[in-house]
Amino acid sequence: ARGANRVLKLGMMPADGIGREVLPAAQRVLQATPGAPQFQFIPLAAGFEHFQKTGSALPEETVRILKEECDGAMFGSVSSPSHKVEGYSSPIVKLRKELDLYANIRPVVGVRGTKDDEKWLDTVIVRENTECLYIKSETLEQGPHGQVARAIRQITEKASTRIGRKAFEVALARQQLREKAGQGNAVNQVQPAKVTVCHKSNVLSVTDGLFRTSVRSVFEKDAISAGGAGRYAGIALDEQLVDSMVYRLFREPHVFDVVVAPNLYGDIISDGAAALVGSLGVVSSVNAGDSFFMGEPVHGSAPDIAGQNKANPIASIRSAALLLEYMGYPDPALRIYKAVDDVIREGKALTPDLRGVATTSECEAAIIKALTA
Ligand code: ATP
Ligand code: MG
Repeated sequence: ARGANRVLKLGMMPADGIGREVLPAAQRVLQATPGAPQFQFIPLAAGFEHFQKTGSALPEETVRILKEECDGAMFGSVSSPSHKVEGYSSPIVKLRKELDLYANIRPVVGVRGTKDDEKWLDTVIVRENTECLYIKSETLEQGPHGQVARAIRQITEKASTRIGRKAFEVALARQQLREKAGQGNAVNQVQPAKVTVCHKSNVLSVTDGLFRTSVRSVFEKDAISAGGAGRYAGIALDEQLVDSMVYRLFREPHVFDVVVAPNLYGDIISDGAAALVGSLGVVSSVNAGDSFFMGEPVHGSAPDIAGQNKANPIASIRSAALLLEYMGYPDPALRIYKAVDDVIREGKALTPDLRGVATTSECEAAIIKALTA
């Protein structure tokens, strides 16, 4: 279904702050990538500033065009007001709901051959995106000894099973990407492919217990259905309590391949992992459903550096490559990953967050040059 001459329509939402600088950079990189499909970029309104102007952070027209006309999307970054603003709700949260993007997939990748080699890692965190404590069901009561606050944490078999299946599919896709990339390049060489389930079922035996058994059952049913040689037969299943997961992540980060986690643990461990690779400015993600994908850098709108041509465009550029990878174009995606790795390794066109002196535009230009070299 993916002919070479097909035009890919991508909805582009730069939204706020540095999103307006880094998303256009990612767009130009996509356009300059040899072997990439043809693109049609459709600019779409979203974000806090749009809310301030119009009263809507995510116009219905944006959602309609995404659903009816786009093959995929890219999101820049959204400012989150520090105080509650009447009538405002995050466009990202709403987009995930509207488009049923139930997984947030975050590769955290170091680059071999830099001074950080010792802490090198290349892992993908697959974070459940719809439930856990994020259903935001909290209560506050007056008890006999002062106030009592409670939060409900929801874990369902349905959501846990589908995130489990997604994690195994990510592990399979990575295995194939590894073969394409060859030794020593861009993709972790952990062998065999491995999925680590992150939980805390020694304490939360009911909720985390259900998460754990749901993910495991995807693997076990696959094995049984095919008499031991199922789709996931080449993948090792591992598990780790979230506390020891954090400890190992900092001590021996290279042991992890794919990690699957409930929403809150996924949030925390992926920010921790991001710290290991030097800057939020290099960490990408894709919001994934079953058939629609939206690339999004992990960082926020960085108001402290917005509008100064200082932001690191790598997170956005890697997110664009990740989007291509998930939309079924691994070859041009790999070219972008390699070009970014080359520029980081060379160290001459890095922005201030990576202790360089280059501007956003200079970093972008170096990546485009590396792509076509
Ligand atoms: P928001 O509320 O939009 O999340 P924030 O103040 O939390 O805004 P973040 O974007 O989350 O800001 O960034 C946290 C820190 O990391 C800031 O100091 C920011 O300058 C820096 N940072 C984030 N992204 C980048 C980037 N792409 N390049 C350089 N620095 C970045
Ligand atoms: Mg932030």
